[in-house]
Amino acid sequence: MIRRDSLCQPASIHAMENRLRSQTTNCLVLLLGALGACRSEEGNAQGGNRSVPEKINAPAVAAPPPAGPSTQDPLTDEAKEAPSRIARRVTFGAMGTEVIFEAQGQDAALLDAALAEARAEFDRVEDMMTSWRDSPLVRMNDGADGTPQKVPKELSDLVVRALTVARLSGGAFDPTYASVGKLWDFKAVPPVIPSPSDIAGALDKIGWSKIQVDQERSRITMPKGTRLGLGGIAKGYGVDRAMDVLMQHGVEHGIVNAGGDLKALGTDMGEPWTIAIKHPRDRERAIAIVPVSNVCLVTSGDYERFFELDGERYHHIIDPRTGRPAKGCMSATVTAPDAALADAVATAVCVLGPDIGLEFVERLPKIEAIVVDMEGRVKSSAGLSTLR
Ligand code: ADP
Ligand code: MG
Repeated sequence: MIRRDSLCQPASIHAMENRLRSQTTNCLVLLLGALGACRSEEGNAQGGNRSVPEKINAPAVAAPPPAGPSTQDPLTDEAKEAPSRIARRVTFGAMGTEVIFEAQGQDAALLDAALAEARAEFDRVEDMMTSWRDSPLVRMNDGADGTPQKVPKELSDLVVRALTVARLSGGAFDPTYASVGKLWDFKAVPPVIPSPSDIAGALDKIGWSKIQVDQERSRITMPKGTRLGLGGIAKGYGVDRAMDVLMQHGVEHGIVNAGGDLKALGTDMGEPWTIAIKHPRDRERAIAIVPVSNVCLVTSGDYERFFELDGERYHHIIDPRTGRPAKGCMSATVTAPDAALADAVATAVCVLGPDIGLEFVERLPKIEAIVVDMEGRVKSSAGLSTLR
């Protein structure tokens, strides 16, 4: 009953491309590149002003295994070869989704080392921010009693960022949603739906302004019964951290994709990375094919973790005003300078709905969005150039 979907998996991008070109009459081809540069100094050398790339990629030639010990590396489950570059890839499960990192360059051993460290970094972020098992976040929630609690600096910094988006979005994105969100269990079989009185009883625990952060001393104060959940921002943050690690290793071309929350660096064998944004109700259709370079692209929606009961769709994005699944839009795809921000904004837009959501996005510098409203219509913010 509960279905997990993953959007924008690079593995499917190139295979999808040809199929989608012929299939999608409603498909927007969006031109991104100068937006939300991961490495603004480098800009978009590969020409963000092209429409559909003439050649999406060198055909994925099954590479003869590169020489050296790296061929034995169980982390690297795919390698392909192009005239001047090789690509190495690692795929794993984390933060409840499939994660794919790819790095391209000349030296397989270096790429593999970079990928392994990026993966460790992503796992480290999950260990700190998860609500599903013991973690610094869970311990902080359990200890909430209105007095300051010491937490890792990285956690208090991300909470500050989450609270900033909460303020800017008028509380549509709000990490304290978890005060009610904890009552729902979308993973259980059958799923757990809280009673209206349970929801009503916990609603007054929600409110981003109840949280005080002393960033300098890494202390968070929150009232008993209020809980913080970082599920709407931590995946994006993990993507940012993993990409930083790849770049620290000198990687200049690669992609970090956690179930559709992605950051694309440089080019894919000399061409822009091509991302298909799937339709939230029809996985075979794309609402957009997006050639990107140095861009973060994050999608949130009501199709990721959901179940249906008596004709109603219950999903994991909670409207903090009602404590129930949001009814704003089917999906929101956001580009922003970093993936953590894009992640939080995408969740906010899903709560706000297409009109207020896009108004919100228009007010934010360097952020753009494409939304699918509850009728399946695609709308986008003004800064996205579109053509058929
Ligand atoms: P995904 O994690 O599938 O990419 P989102 O980025 O939209 O999807 O995040 C949804 C997650 O965000 C939920 O699983 C929950 O952990 C958290 N969340 C749900 N509602 C809110 C909200 N209103 N504000 C902040 N976080 C939320
Ligand atoms: Mg999000």
